Amino acid sequence: MNILQEFDTIAAIATPLGMGGVGIIRISGEKAFEIIEKIFTNPKFEPRKFNLGWIVDNGVKIDEVLVLPFFAPNSYTGENVIEIQCHGGLNVVKNILNLVLENGARMAEKGEFTKRAFLNKRLDLSQAEAVADIIHSKTCDFAKATAKNLSGVLKEKVNEIRNEIFEVLSRITAGIDFPEDVAEPEYSYLIEEFENIINKIDKILLNARSSNILRQGISVAIVGKPNVGKSSLFNALLSLDRAIVTDIAGTTRDVLKETLDLGIPVTLIDTAGIREEGENKVEAIGIEYSKQSLNEADLVLFVYDSTQGIQKEDEEIYNLVKDKNHIVIANKCDLISERNPEKVYLSALTGEGVQDLKHALTKKVCDIEPENLEFVTNSRQQACLNNAKKALDQALLAANIQELQDLISIDVKASLLALDELTGELITDDILDNIFDHFCIGK
Ligand code: GDP
Repeated sequence: MNILQEFDTIAAIATPLGMGGVGIIRISGEKAFEIIEKIFTNPKFEPRKFNLGWIVDNGVKIDEVLVLPFFAPNSYTGENVIEIQCHGGLNVVKNILNLVLENGARMAEKGEFTKRAFLNKRLDLSQAEAVADIIHSKTCDFAKATAKNLSGVLKEKVNEIRNEIFEVLSRITAGIDFPEDVAEPEYSYLIEEFENIINKIDKILLNARSSNILRQGISVAIVGKPNVGKSSLFNALLSLDRAIVTDIAGTTRDVLKETLDLGIPVTLIDTAGIREEGENKVEAIGIEYSKQSLNEADLVLFVYDSTQGIQKEDEEIYNLVKDKNHIVIANKCDLISERNPEKVYLSALTGEGVQDLKHALTKKVCDIEPENLEFVTNSRQQACLNNAKKALDQALLAANIQELQDLISIDVKASLLALDELTGELITDDILDNIFDHFCIGK
């Protein structure tokens, strides 16, 4: 991404390419109004009020549209912005974009609108990253958690910590620079403050594992001997999530893998498809296949038939599972009357226990229930927080041995810089380009 071109006028299609009710073309930059005035029949604009009219190309009508104007600095990017809502056909959207480009705009690069919003201080970096997260989120819970980041929850938490570090640093610096007027802060004060701030960073980092799992998802293998109800369980879990997130490429009707939204994105691996190829084949490769699925899985659902209890063949498979993160499921519980309260009973047929299994599964892999996540962090933000923490650990160590405060201040400054990198106050062009490269065009 070329930093030098930042303040020319850019345009892009902001809606997915394809057929839909509405398509949106977005223009941002100084010439946004000049361009729309050349191609729109009703360009008397009031801020944030739609105007109905026609887009025309040298007198030829292209489409009847609504135009929504935003005057700088009150827009997403902080610049003049025009959004054209036209009919959602692929070619009409392209025709209008081409006309906008011919009249003085440049095609926007990936994430360039959001990058401008960041550079014009409409968003901090954690909010800009939340925009990408909300677009790419694989589950409803993750989308909700990223919306909290967008509203500034993570930014506020980090700023609160930053202010505390800044206060300590100011007091140390005053003591060093004006030794006659200002006393150096007590070491006991420094120790207490450093411990307190490290605790706060730890609290933010606590959700790192859950954030990563919610972002990336986990793979779950369903294993067990033939006929215990693995494919029935697979289907029961699928129907729990009516809106399947994605079909993994290459799978067919006898689904082997499916990604679904169980609060976290879960890719289920089942041995069902293999069984359809013939009973004999299964006899031969049943255990082998289970082993293979196990290697891929973050969590294993070991299923047995509760009407039969655990038999020798079940045990053989269980021995492969027992050292992995797993849940033992006694299936077909609709056929039995007595139950052991220690066990997880389920009926893939009636659906009893399936919802509970969903919760058990989330609990096994996440430290925090997805719906309780206050905000999310990504690996870049986690690295910044870890760097801030490491620097403060050093400062704490130094304060404990009453090191010169001049030396302590070096570590305190380093922790401040790490947090500034998180919010984007201090960031290099490389990192910025890397972040915005993960966006789509038009955002
Ligand atoms: P798999 O070979 O382990 O994948 O087992 P299937 O899912 O194909 O199920 C084997 C048989 O058990 C089928 O006839 C299912 O209808 C039946 N079955 C599966 N789960 C249950 C259950 O929870 N209760 C009852 N009664 N039957 C079940």
